[in-house]
Amino acid sequence: HREPLGAGQLEQALCQAKDVDAQMEQLVGLLELSEGERRLRHLLVALFQEVFSEFFPGCSVLPFGSSVNGFDAHGCDLDLLLDLEPTKSLQSSARRSPGAEESILSDIDLASASPPELLELVAAVLRRCVPGVRRVRAVPTARRPVVKFSHKQSALAGDISVDNRLALHNTRFLRLCGEADERVRPLGYAVRLWAKQQGLAGNPAGGGPLLTNYALTLLVLFFLQTRSPPVLPAVARLRELAGDEDRVVVAGWDCSFPQDAVLLEPSANSESPSSLLAEFFRVFGDFDFSGRVLSLREGRALPLPEAGELFKLGSINLQDPFELSHNVAANVTEKTAWRLGHCCRAAAKYCRSLQYRCKSTKGRGWGLARLFQPGAVEPGAGAASFLISIPVPAPRCPEEPGGGFKEICAGIAFVLHDVLRCGCAPGKPPKQLGAPGAGQSLPEDPVGGKEPPGDATGVEEEPLQAATASKRSQPDGMDGAALPRAKRPRVNSPEQEEEEEEKEEEVVASWSCTVWHRVWTGRRRLRRQLLHGASPEEPEEGGDSLELEQKVSEAIVQHEGAARPPEPLLRFEASARLAGGGRREPRVLLRLTPSPAPGPLFRDFFHFLQAFLPPALRRRLGWGPGAAP
Ligand code: ATP
Ligand code: MG
Repeated sequence: HREPLGAGQLEQALCQAKDVDAQMEQLVGLLELSEGERRLRHLLVALFQEVFSEFFPGCSVLPFGSSVNGFDAHGCDLDLLLDLEPTKSLQSSARRSPGAEESILSDIDLASASPPELLELVAAVLRRCVPGVRRVRAVPTARRPVVKFSHKQSALAGDISVDNRLALHNTRFLRLCGEADERVRPLGYAVRLWAKQQGLAGNPAGGGPLLTNYALTLLVLFFLQTRSPPVLPAVARLRELAGDEDRVVVAGWDCSFPQDAVLLEPSANSESPSSLLAEFFRVFGDFDFSGRVLSLREGRALPLPEAGELFKLGSINLQDPFELSHNVAANVTEKTAWRLGHCCRAAAKYCRSLQYRCKSTKGRGWGLARLFQPGAVEPGAGAASFLISIPVPAPRCPEEPGGGFKEICAGIAFVLHDVLRCGCAPGKPPKQLGAPGAGQSLPEDPVGGKEPPGDATGVEEEPLQAATASKRSQPDGMDGAALPRAKRPRVNSPEQEEEEEEKEEEVVASWSCTVWHRVWTGRRRLRRQLLHGASPEEPEEGGDSLELEQKVSEAIVQHEGAARPPEPLLRFEASARLAGGGRREPRVLLRLTPSPAPGPLFRDFFHFLQAFLPPALRRRLGWGPGAAP
């Protein structure tokens, strides 16, 4: 069978293509299983079927996952379901008729066996009776318990699970999507390979901190459902299109959809695969993963409460298309979620450059080839950082000149500095912002609107302004920079274009911050004391009265001893930028990047700020408690 492509070979092959669309099509051909590889898998499944049937009469061995979902790649693992339901029925009827034949069945009652017992049984059969099978081990603790194995002659690794019929249907769903439109597989392969190179996806069965390939593929499908017009229908629409013979409910979840892609309506969307890829990165570079639920069932992002109580909210909320209470990204850590956004932004930026769009005449990497080089399009190593997403109420339009971004930044600085007593100085402008004049602070119009008090906050010498940076050297920083994208000058070389792209970065405001006191601890008690029990109702954290919150911070500072400690408790860079806009609701994303690397103290502070800042800001800016979602 064909050897997987060696390092560099894939890039070399891709560089020969005529354009990125051709590269994407070629990528599928380079990665997908050959006929020989498919036959080999087929033979292995038949071998397993034969052996298991000896022990479990009536059982079936059914492949799922990448071997059969249309997103196969050389060397991908072999996921198998051992369906023991027919065996269980046989066994119960055999028990009723004495003298049934001797088999492994007589020892264990399958219907009442615990999952670990069943797995050990499957493992024992694999070890003793399937030729060529090595390294068998049961993993009973996974969400879906499996027996892992590898097969010597084919060098394949695989999993057998015993109770996971949903997997058969979600595999069939992925396959249907891949067949529904010819752009789906090229996009799926490109995103999968990119995510693998970036270390964002790949760990099997959701055990580690990364996205599984299944989750990543669902992200691609969700993206295609939410194009305008859509490339793929929502699962709810597929359900309407299902015929009577397609109706199926598994474990209480409706898995009905047509078997055959020819029954689907063709898409009215005409975007090219290469521009869909660029859009994928743009959309998810700016996506509020923790604040919305991505629903493939409905083909849109839902507010968190609509996911239901059983749904486990996480850093990314991606609802399984069938098992609606399951978040397929529940295992993904905050750091991975942040890296996903960061890598998408870097990739989106690369996709706007000539290196992406135009074949290099000098034999350099271009298009997908460069996208797949690990680190090639990633700006900087990317320190761990933490994101707070602040919805901006609907009538406001912070993208427009004077539409409020500057006020929002001033409000953020006010809450950090005046309410929470943090040090808050103009930050280093992000280094990629190369426009002349970018990053200069605004002496005549300090963002805080007020001089810092010269007390124990540790900010005496630090002017309270946000460093701002803009794509053009607008005279008044943020306002001008917040203009919609200006027309770009003509450019004639990739290098020049790259420079232009750098300047086109979004407008940001940034601050260098220090925290000197544990202003996040004991606030509730102090608030109550300060109110003398006047208000029986618990005031909303940060949102009731900013004067009260200022007093609470002051009391904490006093309590810790008015003398400023020699070193701050925490240091971090904060930067604010706009996200959303267009048809999506606008938000301000505040990114905190602590240095040194964050410890538990920073996490405590961050979790506090996450809850405290949005309502405090609402109050400061007079948005009113009901103004924001
Ligand atoms: P790979 O090439 O990495 O094996 P794959 O296409 O087989 O890719 P996996 O992530 O291994 O994708 O998923 C295989 C099957 O396992 C899916 O069809 C799904 O049923 C199940 N699965 C994987 N990840 C999850 C998850 N996070 N939540 C629920 N089910 C999952
Ligand atoms: Mg798999």
